[in-house]
Amino acid sequence: MIRHQDDESRLHSRQKVEAAAARLRDRFPLESGVMALSSHALEDYRRLIDHWCDTASPLATDVLSPESLYALLAIDAVVDQSGQLGCYPFSVLPTGIQVQLGDRSVHAMCAIDALAVSRVSGQASQIVAPCALCDTQLALGMHANGSLHEVMMYEAAVLWTDETQGSCGTNACCNTLCPSIRFVCRSCAEIESKKHESDIFTVPQAAVVANAFFGFQARLRGLEIG
Ligand SMILES: [Zn+2]
Repeated sequence: MIRHQDDESRLHSRQKVEAAAARLRDRFPLESGVMALSSHALEDYRRLIDHWCDTASPLATDVLSPESLYALLAIDAVVDQSGQLGCYPFSVLPTGIQVQLGDRSVHAMCAIDALAVSRVSGQASQIVAPCALCDTQLALGMHANGSLHEVMMYEAAVLWTDETQGSCGTNACCNTLCPSIRFVCRSCAEIESKKHESDIFTVPQAAVVANAFFGFQARLRGLEIG
């Protein structure tokens, strides 16, 4: 009987993760947009991600050719953030979600993006973010292959609410979708899951979604990850 319940909850979890990955790709078809780019724009995109991973810093918008910049902005693969290029999962502007890579630190666009940084960069990382609801400081570690440090119970969870129309300027994903995907602490997650169970993801569930969504960037960078 117990085994039966375990199987059911595993199945439910897998279905929830698959639905979330599909919802994310549907709302933000980044991989298909990038794969349809010209080879020149694709090379510039790869260079931009490499630069973010290697230096934990952005490139300026004027580093790219006008054609590449236009093509990348058109599919929302990059964001002009004060003349510097944000590139999911990396944000130029602070989001409250920081990812430590060695002695350097980057801002992640959202909680799912933060969980993808290790896989994309091939580096171990430490994510630090406040609970979006009560401000409790949260931290979690990831290995270079994008897997989580095993712990008995994660102190954090991911809350994905319906997005509200971004109040600041553009319809870019970072202004609309990203603010709706945040880390929350375990107590806030328990309260929220009683109201909207479907909005709460465990950290391991969200990490699977993150690695599935951003895995193409690791493949573009030539990182061999099983
Ligand atoms: Zn909280």
